[in-house]
Amino acid sequence: MKAIATPKRTKEILEKYGFSFKKSLGQNFLIDVNILRNIIHNAGITKEMNAIEIGPGIGALTEQLAIAANKVVAFEIDGRLVPILEDTLQAYDNVELINQDILKADFEEVWERYFKDDKPVKVVANLPYYITTPILMQLLIANLPISSITVMIQKEVAERMAAAENTKEYGSLSIAIQYYTEAKVKMVVPKTVFMPQPRVDSAVLHLEKRATPPVTVEDEEFFFQLVQASFQQRRKTLRNNLSRHFKDILSKVQIEEGFERVGIDGTRRGESLNIQEFAALANYFKQYVI
Ligand code: SAM
Repeated sequence: MKAIATPKRTKEILEKYGFSFKKSLGQNFLIDVNILRNIIHNAGITKEMNAIEIGPGIGALTEQLAIAANKVVAFEIDGRLVPILEDTLQAYDNVELINQDILKADFEEVWERYFKDDKPVKVVANLPYYITTPILMQLLIANLPISSITVMIQKEVAERMAAAENTKEYGSLSIAIQYYTEAKVKMVVPKTVFMPQPRVDSAVLHLEKRATPPVTVEDEEFFFQLVQASFQQRRKTLRNNLSRHFKDILSKVQIEEGFERVGIDGTRRGESLNIQEFAALANYFKQYVI
């Protein structure tokens, strides 16, 4: 049987079912099997592992995952794709399809039902671009027992997530992602491997889950709030952004004292601080937050 991910077979499947793409669901299907194998290679999937896929579409990536992994659990929001997937993936008995919005998934139940074998679980997906960040943050905050996440996403977002300090891509999203994972852009992917072609460029991002965060923060919520505040106006100094954002809880004197105690110059910009420096500031200022 020929792979699903070719222009010819994809067109045949779409025609057979009279399927029309829903832009609002980020439906851009992959039609290049080499790209798919590359994604799976970058994810490090083997027969000793299980995979969670988000948005199988007509099964292009699911099929390659079924070949490479022990088991695949795929979440698809669009009910029109269920009969199509049952057809295109009928040769694979290691795929479980869940017709549900991934943001509403009950992961405890998923583990209880499908992952009792204790094999490592990895997330691999060509994500719907309109909800990339909510999906990734949900997976990370839920602290699921997954070892890594490998996803095709918008190139610009992948670069922001993996960015180091002192670059224009670096911001609160970089810190949020890198608090939980080690992030790397693995490859840039041309628009031509999708049907229909998206307007933006794409990239494969690999997130290796950390056993523990790289910094110890006393209050995660406050830490992320301080990071966000530091980037509120990128061209303003740290002093300026923090005193504006925390004007109701911190006096200017307390802010200056904080900079001095932590050893950070208030005239620096947020983009020059690494995660350790943000953690030190958050742990110091935390004492003033009730
Ligand atoms: N994996 C397929 C491929 O590579 O050809 C399709 C990828 S396409 C970029 C994104 C898929 O995610 C679509 O099938 C879409 O219907 C599905 N999707 C969109 N929003 C979703 C959500 N909230 N939960 C689960 N699936 C979703």
